Amino acid sequence: MDVIVVGAGIAGLVAARELTRAGKQVLVLEARERVGGRLFSREIAPGIWIDLGGQWLGPTQERAYALAHELGIELFPTYHEGESLLYQGGKLRRYSGVVPNVGLLALLDFGRGMTRLDRLAQEVPLEAPWNAPHATRWDSITFATWIEQTMRTPIGRWGLTLFAKAVFAAEPCEFSLLHALFYIHSGGGVQQLSGVRGGAQQDRFTLGAQSLANRLAAELGERVHLQSPVHRIQHDATGVTVHTGDRRYRAQAVIVAIPPTLAARIQYEPPLPPARDQLTQRLPNGSVIKCFAVYPTPFWREQGLNGFVTSDTGPVHLVFDNSPPDGSMGILLGFIEGADARRMSLASPAERRDAALACFARYFGERAANPELYLDHDWSAEAWTRGCYGAHFPPGAWTQFGHALRPPIGRIYWAGTETATRWMGYIDGAIESGQRAAQQLLHTCLLD
Ligand code: FAD
Repeated sequence: MDVIVVGAGIAGLVAARELTRAGKQVLVLEARERVGGRLFSREIAPGIWIDLGGQWLGPTQERAYALAHELGIELFPTYHEGESLLYQGGKLRRYSGVVPNVGLLALLDFGRGMTRLDRLAQEVPLEAPWNAPHATRWDSITFATWIEQTMRTPIGRWGLTLFAKAVFAAEPCEFSLLHALFYIHSGGGVQQLSGVRGGAQQDRFTLGAQSLANRLAAELGERVHLQSPVHRIQHDATGVTVHTGDRRYRAQAVIVAIPPTLAARIQYEPPLPPARDQLTQRLPNGSVIKCFAVYPTPFWREQGLNGFVTSDTGPVHLVFDNSPPDGSMGILLGFIEGADARRMSLASPAERRDAALACFARYFGERAANPELYLDHDWSAEAWTRGCYGAHFPPGAWTQFGHALRPPIGRIYWAGTETATRWMGYIDGAIESGQRAAQQLLHTCLLD
């Protein structure tokens, strides 16, 4: 065997495909009974798919669009015709365009904050954020501190806090300003990260995003072994031995394509160098629960609404129209993120349902309180993910340990969206990381 890939998420599958195409013998070991990892689609009615995990693509995610095209996977635009809703201070307001009219001062404040973040983000080198001109300063404060020090209006502060929750699934006090700036640069800017048309929420997969992984796995065939959680990796100058339960596999090299916090739960022999281990001690995943309510029709469209909501009242602060492409039924998707997700993770399924539906009813009226179907998915409870959308870097992590994120250690190579430079945390970043790890290996003499 040439290479063992740990994890059949999109990163691991892409790496395995590149290596197989280069004529190498590859084995993919996946802990779950399915492939796709953070991509997890369910058919809730014949031909109607929802994504419990990642679901959107947007402009500049060229790798993901190219892969979808190559695999013959169809996309369609997220429904966004009509007006959006803002629920704030107990009042519901409709608005057109990107930003609601929240008063001139607040608008100016928010616009200034976004421009400033975009400008500072450009100064963060994607390959090495710790080399940014003010890296030490930016990595010594949280994003929350920056918001507090910079934004002048309560609405401006609220807007950027919501941006943080929506994009990182974490509270702004949990990650450093340097990480926020790196991520903004990595994803092409604040507007690109948060927008629907022209932004990261622009397009959806007709058959669900997991179809990407399913098709890659179908190509790889018997090279993918499910229900094979890796718990130990022995490595030395002659090769690697990878252990799953009572089985062991020998190869020239291994690519570990899983989130850093899970990579840290594997036992390495000999132990990994201090910098790498201490890095993975510091990269927690965010917290998110995705909630879906399914109705006979997308009734909000009749009222000229596009289904998009931002709200200061939780636990669902963000809602999208997630109906199928032909609008043959109506589906609202709500996000519970950060502190709200932690709180609702402790609630019973019935309490969570009631809380989410109360939010939908607050935004769209009583009809929204009685869906035909409700379901949600708590990613922190997934043993082989342990939180989403991905990892974030608390103060000090990038500058003290970031250098240990990507370089291989002997015959152990690292992939997974957390190791990407462009679109870190996204499907596109996962693809970049899989391609990069495969190419790194192909350029060594380990596989000759
Ligand atoms: P993963 O998908 O996490 O793959 C890792 C794999 O390794 C998993 O299959 C796991 O089971 C397996 N594994 C873990 N530990 C072991 C072990 N010890 N042994 C063997 N196997 C193991 N991205 C977007 O681009 N657009 C979106 O709209 C979007 N929305 C999201 C919404 C949610 C709710 C979530 C959860 C994620 C979202 N993302 C989105 C992020 C996107 O899904 C991820 O960035 C991407 O899927 C990560 O792929 P990966 O291969 O790096 O990691």
